[in-house]
Amino acid sequence: MVAAASTEGSPLRILGVSKSFPAPGNDAIHNLALDATTLSMTAGELVSVIGPSGCGKSTLLRLIAGLDFPDSGELWVGDDPITGPSAERGLVFQDPNLFPWLTVSRNIQAGLVARGLLQKKRPEVGEFMRLVGLEAFANAYPHHLSGGMAQRVALARALINHPKVLLLDEPLGALDAFTRMRMQDEVLRLWQARRTTMLLVTHDIDEAIYMGDRIVIMTPHPGRIERTIAVTLDRPRQRNSQAFLRLRGEILELLHLAGSAGRNPVGGMSSHIRQDEDTSGIKPDMPGTSQPEISPPASVVSGVAEP
Ligand code: ADP
Ligand code: MG
Repeated sequence: MVAAASTEGSPLRILGVSKSFPAPGNDAIHNLALDATTLSMTAGELVSVIGPSGCGKSTLLRLIAGLDFPDSGELWVGDDPITGPSAERGLVFQDPNLFPWLTVSRNIQAGLVARGLLQKKRPEVGEFMRLVGLEAFANAYPHHLSGGMAQRVALARALINHPKVLLLDEPLGALDAFTRMRMQDEVLRLWQARRTTMLLVTHDIDEAIYMGDRIVIMTPHPGRIERTIAVTLDRPRQRNSQAFLRLRGEILELLHLAGSAGRNPVGGMSSHIRQDEDTSGIKPDMPGTSQPEISPPASVVSGVAEP
C-alpha cells in the first residue's frame, strides 16, 4: 500500500526572484514578468496562487520547475538550490498531456521508464492507480477517459516520482464546474495522503480558498506578489459559510482594486483583513515565511490603469 506519509514534501524558498522577457516584437525592451518575488513555503504546505493572466504565475512555476532561470534571486528546495529540472519537482498543467498511444498504466509509469526505475518501482504503479481510483482503467487509452480521469492520471504520473514539491498550473481549469469540485476534493485527498508541498495556480477564487493553507495574490506589470493571506478556516471547508464568503468578497475586491485605476488603495484592505482576523478565519501571512509587508502596487496608488 501507499503509506500515508507524514510529509514527502520539502520547504520551498523563493528569494528575491526577478525574471524579464523581451517585449513582443522589440528585443531591445524587456518586460518584468516577475519582480523581486519572495515566497517561503513550509514542508507539506498547500499554497494557492491567484491573479490575472500575465501576472507571472506560470513563469514562477517554470522557475521552480527548473525549466527556466531567473535574472536574479535564488530558489531552494530544502537545502538544495534549484539548478534545473528534477523529478523531485512535479508539474501538472491544465492539459494533462498524456501520451495518447499509451494506456493509463503505461502513462503513469512513463517517468519511471525514462529514469530506468520501472523494475524497482513496478509495484507502485498499481498503488498509485488505486490512489487516484483508476485501477479499473489500467488498460484504457486516454481517449476513453473523461477530463477528470485524464487529470487524475496526470496527478498519479507526477506523484509516483514522490515529488518534494508538486506544482499545479491551473490543473482543473478545463473541467466543468461539478467535475472541478470533485477533483478539488481529489487533489486535497492526495495532498493529505502524501503531504507533498503543493503550489496551486488557479483563476478561481473559490478554489483558491477551498484548497489553500495560504493564498498568494499576484498582480501584473510587473508581476509581483501583492499579498499573502493565511486561510484558517477548518477543513473540509464549507463553500457557503459566512467566513468563506467574506474572504471571497475581500479577495475579489483586492483583485478588482489591483486592476483598477487608483480608486481605493489596496493598502486599505490590509487593516480590514486584520480586523476580521478573529472571526473570519483570515489572518495576515504567517510570520517568518512571508513577503515583507507589501505596499500597494504602483498601478493602484499612482492611478496607472492596466491595459
Ligand atoms: P500567467 O501564467 O500569470 O498568465 P505568465 O507567467 O505566463 O503569466 O507570463 C507573465 C508575462 O511574461 C506575460 O507578460 C507573458 O507575455 C510574458 N512571458 C512569459 N513567458 C514568456 C516567454 N517565454 N517569452 C516572452 N514573454 C514571456
Ligand atoms: Mg499561466
